[in-house]
Amino acid sequence: MRIAEGIEMLELNLGPMTICPTVIFDKDEWVLVDTGMPGSASAIIELAKQGGIGERRLSTILLTHQDIDHIGGLPAFKSDNPELVVYAHEDDKAVIDGKQPMIKVSPERLATLLGSLPEEARRQFEAAFLKPSSNVDRLMADGEILPFAGGVTVLHTPGHTPGHVSLYHQPSKTLIAGDSMVIDNGELKGPREAVTPDMATALQSLKKYEEYDIKTVICYHGGMLQGDIKGRIAALTEGI
Ligand SMILES: [Zn+2]
Repeated sequence: MRIAEGIEMLELNLGPMTICPTVIFDKDEWVLVDTGMPGSASAIIELAKQGGIGERRLSTILLTHQDIDHIGGLPAFKSDNPELVVYAHEDDKAVIDGKQPMIKVSPERLATLLGSLPEEARRQFEAAFLKPSSNVDRLMADGEILPFAGGVTVLHTPGHTPGHVSLYHQPSKTLIAGDSMVIDNGELKGPREAVTPDMATALQSLKKYEEYDIKTVICYHGGMLQGDIKGRIAALTEGI
């Protein structure tokens, strides 16, 4: 779905859930925000092509946070494209680099997931995330403006994970909220409690959005919403 010039939201149906990675692009390059599950990479590239990226080169991946449905496709993107530059926040870097265990994945769930993967995807996953590796090439910090498609501001919005970031695409006034919020039946809500270990910090993080003029919000779980986004966020943080 085309959000505005230079920004496209993808919708990838994974069976039990649909996820919404975002593509930001300019004349020659495209940037992908989050990579889906292990095995998602080729479907994401196909959706991006359908979305009109054409012959542009995938130059960069921005990871909003360490959760498996956001980093799972990364090894496949990297192996197909050694020049790809991957950004994440410092506070999730050690996990994404396989140096610390993922904070929300129990050994049982991990075993189930690994068992469900085709051989090659499993090997890639183990090499990338279950032993020390260097998946993250660059850090992105709160307040930094990344030079993609007219400017993308990084907002550190911890709570869902310690290194969770949201991204604000300046020209289109689009907030890419990652998992800091979700959209359920057309309603913008705070992060899902069951998968947000520090709910108090996560709600506090939403206050950072007050400073931004937000025309469109994209939630990885739930898609995009326009309208009185600021009013809705103010309601979510009321009394905090
Ligand atoms: Zn997620």
